[in-house]
Amino acid sequence: MAAPLFRRMALLGVGLIGGSMSHAARRGRLVDEVVGHARSERTRARALELGLCAAMYDNPIDAVRDADLIVLATPVGAYAALARAIAPVLQPGTIVTDVGSVKGAVVQDVGPHLPPGVDFVPAHPVAGTEHSGPDAGFAELFENRWTILTPPEGTNPAAVEKLAELWRGFGALVDVMKPPHHDMVLAVTSHLPHLIAYNIVGTANHLEAVTESEVIKYAAGGFRDFTRIAASDPVMWRDIFLTNGAAVLEMLGRFQEDLSVLTRAIRFKDGETLEKFFTRTRAIRRGIIDAGQAEPEDAKKK
Ligand code: NAP
Repeated sequence: MAAPLFRRMALLGVGLIGGSMSHAARRGRLVDEVVGHARSERTRARALELGLCAAMYDNPIDAVRDADLIVLATPVGAYAALARAIAPVLQPGTIVTDVGSVKGAVVQDVGPHLPPGVDFVPAHPVAGTEHSGPDAGFAELFENRWTILTPPEGTNPAAVEKLAELWRGFGALVDVMKPPHHDMVLAVTSHLPHLIAYNIVGTANHLEAVTESEVIKYAAGGFRDFTRIAASDPVMWRDIFLTNGAAVLEMLGRFQEDLSVLTRAIRFKDGETLEKFFTRTRAIRRGIIDAGQAEPEDAKKK
């Protein structure tokens, strides 16, 4: 069996993503040891009970000492303070990475704090669920899902390749992008859909004519799928919209233009425009299924 890629992986944040990384790393024997840091005593205790980490520390400095891989896995708003806190004890040759859903802001927030000789390779696993916390993690989360690495200009290519190998060991497909490009792509594929889901669920909640019981009773009409997305972690999503505002606003502008086209077609009973539009979107769905990126149960309905 091949030697583990890393001796000691320190997870700063042990929730859905950090917990899943621990499961996948231990299953594949990709690291010798996993240790962690979380804010609350409850999460630290739970991470130990679940065997996600061999040790949990309340101070991030203690978690990263002697680690050769450090993973920022808290909501992105906490990254800058964590990077500042751990910087004094980082040794040359250490790889620092993250799993944040935005990348431009992360490069700006984390990069300047890291000492020379430390390799910073930002990453984003495009995989998730609406569940949070250490109990939500599972080893298969990243399988056949893309992880996007966004190394800033001048990053050591050996560190990028080593991190790519780790993600491939988790079963992920790996891609490399520039941070601004990542943020634009994710604004349309993830951030805007979440904003729409949060908004539509909020709208249903405000409609006095639709009683609560009717919203729940007829949820299968489409609303249910939005409620799943709108149940995603409020702090994580607050931070995503605060840090990727420009790209989201750009996509929101285009969304509003397209919505105007549909609004007009409905108002003027232009069935041809509606049907053409919906035929195009159905083809996009087929493309996602064919690329193996649909949910497993949906793919069966193909
Ligand atoms: P999560 O399940 O809520 O876990 C967050 C972890 O971070 C917990 O261990 C929490 O500890 C800790 N934490 C929160 N604030 C902290 C702070 N200020 N200082 C130290 N620790 C703190 O979150 P997640 O879903 O794993 O998301 C983590 C990151 O992954 C985010 O940056 C997110 O953008 C990214 N991501 C998420 C998904 C997804 O679908 N969820 C997908 C891809 C990427 P306590 O419990 O003690 O507060």
